[in-house]
Amino acid sequence: MTVRAILSEKGYDVVALRPDVIVRDAVATLNKHRIGAIVVTDDSSLIKGIISERDVVRALAEDGAKCLDRPVSALMTANVKVCSENHTVNEVMEIMTRGRFRHLPVERDGKLIGVISIGDVVKRRIEEVQREAEAIRSYIASA
Ligand code: AMP
Repeated sequence: MTVRAILSEKGYDVVALRPDVIVRDAVATLNKHRIGAIVVTDDSSLIKGIISERDVVRALAEDGAKCLDRPVSALMTANVKVCSENHTVNEVMEIMTRGRFRHLPVERDGKLIGVISIGDVVKRRIEEVQREAEAIRSYIASA
């Protein structure tokens, strides 16, 4: 299964913010959409960074509540790993495992078009394993 198939099932909606939005508003956005990370883009949908709940927790632990008034650009990870619609579920799992993160923005022609989370990947992988098990069961039953 590919990232294209996942996005066409779950939708291409992406929650993105500009780099100068304050962290307090980013936290409200994470809570409102019940998500774990927000992609940071410029006005042309070019990816500038990603901020996840982990970045906020780290800043709160290190600097206290004053980090909430800083811009998102101060906390985000600027070196963002991305994937394309042609990546497979297994490739995405490998990128996330190697990079130790749970979110992967999807780019087309250099522009943000979607986000894949570890939850999306695990759901599809479980479905694949169940389909494989079912195919083996029917094969054995028909032998
Ligand atoms: P996560 O596990 O996605 O909540 O993120 C853990 C850490 O990795 C945070 O510091 C994020 O800013 C960073 N991060 C999340 N996704 C990516 C990504 N696709 N590329 C690079 N860093 C990321």
